[in-house]
Amino acid sequence: MGIPYLFERRGNVSLIVGLLVSVTIGTLALIIAEDIADIGIALGAFLGGLIAGRFTVKPLNGGSRGAAVGVLSLLLYYFFIVPALYMARLITIPEVEPSTLELIVAWIVTILELVGVGFVGGVAGYYTTIGVKPAMKPTPEAKPTIPSLSRCPRCGASLPVDAIYCPQCGFKVREVRPV
Ligand SMILES: [Zn+2]
Repeated sequence: MGIPYLFERRGNVSLIVGLLVSVTIGTLALIIAEDIADIGIALGAFLGGLIAGRFTVKPLNGGSRGAAVGVLSLLLYYFFIVPALYMARLITIPEVEPSTLELIVAWIVTILELVGVGFVGGVAGYYTTIGVKPAMKPTPEAKPTIPSLSRCPRCGASLPVDAIYCPQCGFKVREVRPV
């Protein structure tokens, strides 16, 4: 449990790739079809979450990474992408200034949308790789050849005595050899 799986190395790569996919689709939607950009942004967050949720060993881990893609996408939109698009005149400034309350509501909706969609994408991403997860492969005719480690060298999770793969991050913690 906890945070380590979020920052596990393979997870970081999928998180970054997922984030790039998310904001690329959303940015294209903003440029091409501003009126329905929300759909493009949500679609981007879903696909980004899907990518980020791969290689996880639990559905909630995938969902957490997907939600992280949603949050990071939102920060990129807010601080970089939308201001840059305004400056480049690729999106328009609304003629009627929305009220503070409208802005707050819009932001809450956007946050919930991106986090929720990213989470669902991440859980879906977990299920896309369930068949190829190394931890899922039974190894009944294998025995350890080096002593077991008490902690995973990658994520630090404590390991069962007979663990071959880390139950937390899927890292192979022992070599195995057929009997
Ligand atoms: Zn581990």
